[in-house]
Amino acid sequence: MARDYYEILGVDRGADEAQIKKAFRRLARELHPDVNAHDPQAEEKFKEAAAAYEVLSDGERRRMYDTYGEEGLRGRGYAPDMDAFGSVSDLFSAFFGTGGFDAAFGGGRRGRYAGAVQGADVVVAAAIDLADSARGAQVEISYEAATLCPHCNGNGAEPGTPIVDCPRCDGTGQHQRVARTAFGQLVRTSICDRCEGEGRVPETPCSECDGAGMVGEHKRVAVDIPPGIADGQRIRLTRRGHAGQRGGPPGDLYVVVRVREDERFLRDGEDLVTVIDVPAPLAALGTTVQVPTFDGEVPLEIPAGTQPGETIVMRGRGLPPLSRGRTGDLRVVVNVAIPRRLTREQRSLLQDFAATVTEDNLRSDEGMLAKLKRVLAG
Ligand SMILES: [Zn+2]
Ligand SMILES: [Zn+2]
Repeated sequence: MARDYYEILGVDRGADEAQIKKAFRRLARELHPDVNAHDPQAEEKFKEAAAAYEVLSDGERRRMYDTYGEEGLRGRGYAPDMDAFGSVSDLFSAFFGTGGFDAAFGGGRRGRYAGAVQGADVVVAAAIDLADSARGAQVEISYEAATLCPHCNGNGAEPGTPIVDCPRCDGTGQHQRVARTAFGQLVRTSICDRCEGEGRVPETPCSECDGAGMVGEHKRVAVDIPPGIADGQRIRLTRRGHAGQRGGPPGDLYVVVRVREDERFLRDGEDLVTVIDVPAPLAALGTTVQVPTFDGEVPLEIPAGTQPGETIVMRGRGLPPLSRGRTGDLRVVVNVAIPRRLTREQRSLLQDFAATVTEDNLRSDEGMLAKLKRVLAG
């Protein structure tokens, strides 16, 4: 059983046009999906309110409804069906324009129909070296952002000239279009594109900003990049974006950090991986090699008998954690390098050595499966 349209809008039967409109705007503001995502019923309630408004805002339909009820409307070929709009935001746009919730209900009080709107965000990229990601860095960012025009102070009028009622919408801030749909006539209200809902426009547009009230400004800002940041992560600087409209706050600045590759290291989360070549005889004998780190080269002992692909972990030589946790490790993969070219003398020495090699020299505690896994993992 459908609810009474007056009851849905919360107005009494004698309510005038302005009261009905006000009640619908209030409901729409409460039930808008951007505001009310947590109420699963909000969408249905909004559709219901829209249907009620469709009928009660039209004198002819309202009389029919008052006399014959919903049945009577249907009998005359009118039955509001708000599901025809598909999404609730399409439906919302049909009544309040495509500017979205902020354009229709923004918090400011300056405009008649449109309120303060927050400025748009600015996104810029900053490239740093992997070493900077280890230590943290400060980079200077430059970007263009819309800012209030200093010539007209943001109101769009040439100084000393008046701001007048918008000639396009006669100062109402909106256009109404009547669309004929399968469900009857539908009044679509949209925000005036000349005055953007304010109802007022400058008579003589500002010579600096052409009436926009905004000009582009080149900005520079130093950004602290925290240690441990990974490629693609974003840093948000609040209120450093484009200026807001009609007294709204500026948008934010997002710095997307690109971390350049470092030829010496692969990054694996907080860990770094590097590969060190060790000549086969030295891998057999054991040796000390120099390993690159962000603090310069440090010595690493390679134990005698180190096998190809074996990994030696240097604790705490990786990257610092971005927030909590411990500093990563540097994993050194030992590439046992087999000499590709030999002198006559080396060949002869190696032949003599090879003649002495026995099963015992190669024995390990590692089973075949474990050996395969190690080789495949490398
Ligand atoms: Zn200006
Ligand atoms: Zn206008």
